Amino acid sequence: MSQTENRARYRRILVKMSGEALLGAADYGVDPAMLRRIASEIHDVTRLSVEIAVVIGGGNIFRGAGLARAGMDRVTADHMGMLATVMNALAMQDALEGLGVDVRVMSALRINQVCEDYIRRRAMRHLEKGRVVIFAAGTGNPFFTTDTAASLRAIEINAEVLLKATKVNGIYSDDPVKNKSAVHYARLTFDRVLAEKLQVMDATAIVMCRDNNLPLRVFNLNNAGDLVRIVKGEDVGTVVSNDA
Ligand code: UDP
Repeated sequence: MSQTENRARYRRILVKMSGEALLGAADYGVDPAMLRRIASEIHDVTRLSVEIAVVIGGGNIFRGAGLARAGMDRVTADHMGMLATVMNALAMQDALEGLGVDVRVMSALRINQVCEDYIRRRAMRHLEKGRVVIFAAGTGNPFFTTDTAASLRAIEINAEVLLKATKVNGIYSDDPVKNKSAVHYARLTFDRVLAEKLQVMDATAIVMCRDNNLPLRVFNLNNAGDLVRIVKGEDVGTVVSNDA
């Protein structure tokens, strides 16, 4: 690769992926082949000397709202959801380590026999040393989502952009899988996402980004190489900002 090809647009990024992204071809839990694929894309980003933090959801295992609808106490259900994200984070840590990447899982809930506690300054130090940091257990509070955890952590660690991985090529006027005439947006403002209730992240997460001027880019994790293309400055997916 030449110097120009190597140049990255960002110094520090945070990538959010849902728990379902790890499902791959599996019916339940995580698909090791999918984990390896995603890990290798994260590895490619680290090779551009970009600091990368990751937030992983838990929806492939438990979602608090779903358990609560089935009759469980919401707070207990959310605790289970947060613990599910810890399992996913450990799986991703394992896949990254398999590729020789230095990585630390930091949990918002204290489970320090399996991973570190989230301490902001320590997280920043890991990133400065070139380690991938996986933030687990969301915000550590019930009634929040891992999307909100991703915007919160991205702001806390001064990430330049929040990259939200999805199954489609960005944000559309409607679900592009169900509605073939759904329109793709290249750029949007946070206010428009909120006003039109576009399905991107929950409103709390969007408001966090808006009020702290953190740009968000939504991209398709199934398109191999898109993550690296974004890091190199290519206009992939949809960008949401205050001045789109
Ligand atoms: N969760 C929570 N607080 C947080 C983040 C997550 O209580 O700050 C719980 C919540 O029950 C949620 C589950 O963890 O349903 C899994 O997270 P999420 O639904 O965001 O995962 P994803 O849809 O991204 O896989």
